[in-house]
Amino acid sequence: MDLRLSEREEAFRAEARAWLAAHVPKKPLPSSGSRDGFAAHVAWEKELFAAGWSVVSWPARYGGRDASVVEWLLFEEEYYLAGAPARVTQNGIFLLAPALFEFGSDEQKERLLRPMAAAETLWAQGWSEPGAGSDLAAVASTATRTEGGWLLRGQKTWSTRAAFCHALHGLFRTDPSAPRHKGLTYFLVPLDAPGVRVNGFRRLDGDEDFAEVFLDDVFVADREVVGAVHQGWKVAMATTGSERGLTLRSPGRFLATARRLVALYREHRAGADPRLRDAVVQAWMDAQAYQLYTLRAVSRIAEGKPLGADSSINKIAWSELDLRMHETALELLGPVAELVSGAPDAVDAGAWIKGFQFALAGPIYAGTNEIQRNVIAERVLGLPKE
Ligand SMILES: Cc1cc2nc3c(=O)[nH]c(=O)nc-3n(C[C@H](O)[C@H](O)[C@H](O)COP(=O)(O)OP(=O)(O)OC[C@H]3O[C@@H](n4cnc5c(N)ncnc54)[C@H](O)[C@@H]3O)c2cc1C
Repeated sequence: MDLRLSEREEAFRAEARAWLAAHVPKKPLPSSGSRDGFAAHVAWEKELFAAGWSVVSWPARYGGRDASVVEWLLFEEEYYLAGAPARVTQNGIFLLAPALFEFGSDEQKERLLRPMAAAETLWAQGWSEPGAGSDLAAVASTATRTEGGWLLRGQKTWSTRAAFCHALHGLFRTDPSAPRHKGLTYFLVPLDAPGVRVNGFRRLDGDEDFAEVFLDDVFVADREVVGAVHQGWKVAMATTGSERGLTLRSPGRFLATARRLVALYREHRAGADPRLRDAVVQAWMDAQAYQLYTLRAVSRIAEGKPLGADSSINKIAWSELDLRMHETALELLGPVAELVSGAPDAVDAGAWIKGFQFALAGPIYAGTNEIQRNVIAERVLGLPKE
């Protein structure tokens, strides 16, 4: 593998870096988990879109730049190194969009992709239900045929940002008599449709964008089905590859955290505790290793080979690395680590403790790490099921 960047890639990186240096808000935005913070993030993403940086790897007709996967990775690196805000469009652009590119109709692509990239339509993911988390095929919410479309009924839960979003993408059971994985269909649901009730609730870290969504005979038209009827599992599994692997958590995010951790160590030293020094060095190396692993995955994609179950290895790597880095930062900071945003002596406006609380969820969302280990054991290593 040739790891050197081409002239074109270097120029792309330089252009992204210059734009971000001039435009990233100097003061961090308030958390996107508050209503005001969410609005501030949406305004930022509209600016990003207007300048053509919101979905660089998409075709230009949908607001992208036709950038290659390597260029997209470079953009992500620069984005995080510049300290740019978290993307509130992420459940749309990183999870739903790959499914639309693969399974969506031309009409859906024309209608949905541009407003998604422009942060005009904000999307939430509606997969989990009270009785269907790890066992996603247990989805019990139903869709029943009616004239011109479907009536949706049931409950979704743990839906990130659904309290502030416009629409939800998720799985519904269309054929209760079929085997569990075969009777599901992938739907797009406007959250302002009659019969939808969005019940937002607070998380441990104070954010209030999480929601449960109740659906009571909600009508959605036929054009809101992604892929074929009863083929929703196939669409969903294509999306999990994006969620666990490349698109949702690119290496740039962790390279930037590792760099911040090194800077924190230099500043605080922590009595030159060799154990902490080793943890910082290890974190930096692990972030580099994750980047190299991702590049290997990109090479495989370029050769037309599917990522498949390998994305489970990615998921474990980034989620556990993120947690280790934040734990190390808290140890480095000592008691002051507990000061949250707004406290006068909080370091980096409490970013480490906030990041730690979110990192705790990393081994749970996008499919728990226990489930990923099962997938690796069975589908990568070929071990017997039990
Ligand atoms: C921060 C956050 C954001 C989220 N955002 C969304 C979202 O936007 N949309 C959405 O649809 N969902 C979302 N989720 C939900 C997430 O996908 C589920 O929490 C996750 O899939 C686990 O399901 P569960 O909570 O029902 O736990 P369960 O499935 O009940 O699992 C409980 C425990 O049992 C373990 N376990 C279960 N089955 C097995 C097995 N076969 N082998 C070994 N261990 C097992 C699990 O690993 C876990 O430790 C989010 C979750 C979090 C924490």
